[in-house]
Amino acid sequence: MQVPLLDLKAQYQTIRAEIDAAVAEVFESQYFILGPKVKECEAAIAKYCGIDHAIGVSSGTDALLIALMAEGIGAGDEVITTPYTFFSTAGSVSRLGAKPVFVDIDPKTFNIDPALIEAKITPRTRAIIPVHLYGQMADMAPILEIAKRHNLIVIEDAAQAIGAEYQGQRAGNLGEYGCFSFFPSKNLGAAGDGGMVITKDADRAEKLDRLRAHGSKPKYYHSIIGGNFRLDALQAAVVTVKLRHLDAWTARRQANAKRYNDLFAKAGMIEDGTVQLPQVTADRHIFNQYVIRVPCRDALRNHLKERGIGNEVYYPVPLHLQECFANLGYHAGDCPESEKAAQETLALPIYPELTQDQAQYVVEEIVGFRR
Ligand SMILES: *Cc1c(COP(=O)(O)O)cnc(C)c1O
Repeated sequence: MQVPLLDLKAQYQTIRAEIDAAVAEVFESQYFILGPKVKECEAAIAKYCGIDHAIGVSSGTDALLIALMAEGIGAGDEVITTPYTFFSTAGSVSRLGAKPVFVDIDPKTFNIDPALIEAKITPRTRAIIPVHLYGQMADMAPILEIAKRHNLIVIEDAAQAIGAEYQGQRAGNLGEYGCFSFFPSKNLGAAGDGGMVITKDADRAEKLDRLRAHGSKPKYYHSIIGGNFRLDALQAAVVTVKLRHLDAWTARRQANAKRYNDLFAKAGMIEDGTVQLPQVTADRHIFNQYVIRVPCRDALRNHLKERGIGNEVYYPVPLHLQECFANLGYHAGDCPESEKAAQETLALPIYPELTQDQAQYVVEEIVGFRR
């Protein structure tokens, strides 16, 4: 049996007619950059997130970059974030000349540990970027409280968490900005790169709109310096179609997670501590990834790979130990929980179309390896 980590072909089979029609419409119109399809997508995402403004951009990375740019964050500024995330969370900060400051994670959720944030705040700190890793929101209440007390901007990296909820609120609408990615492997993926920034604030929305088109308004009059961070109409059309299916897909991901939990429990893997399951602490975990912790992780990876089971490590090297950030002066031991997670985490196939037999096979092979 083959169990890929993600099966986008299976997903396409279920929505082919809708996608093909939407794509054809864009070709008929020959309107490829921004335009009505992008507006429609922005309105649909804003509604889905329960917020007033959504600005389509070229990627999740550019969503983060443009939010930081809108706040004028740059040289001399510090931005607090987690080292246990995809590179672009901190890469965007560095590209603007600002300094990422890493705060270790809560080992239960893999999200930034709010209790460790305050010790890292300096007079140069401008913003906090919590990441809602794997589809579960960070513990936002204390983060927002700290931000308010220190007058900091909160930019939610919700690239893996569209539709996730915390205390009844959707990901992206708790901070000043929420950033989404439509990279194809995200829960809501485009047919290429794409992203979105959401905000409650009309002035911020207006600035984002300008920044994504070289800071111009009206056209060819540039009051600020932006870039080309525009969302394509084709990507917007695909995302708008897929958004209609997102809640059904999320429900299946959640059902798959529960199935794995039950299978691991039945196999006695929880009691004996050989597998640690994902801990759900927020209201709505959307399971962009189902990540377990295991000892001898790398040997297990090979075992699964040889048996046709896709798996991945998100992420093998925490950002504070990445070569390109050596100048920031971090060392092994500075963020121990992130370093431990990097050794132990393993993402298993959780995509909506995963069958019961496939899930059973995955667990059987893990049990077989452990025994
Ligand atoms: C995917 C991702 C991004 C970047 O999104 P792209 O669309 O690939 O640029 C940023 N942060 C996190 C946590 C992500 O998972």
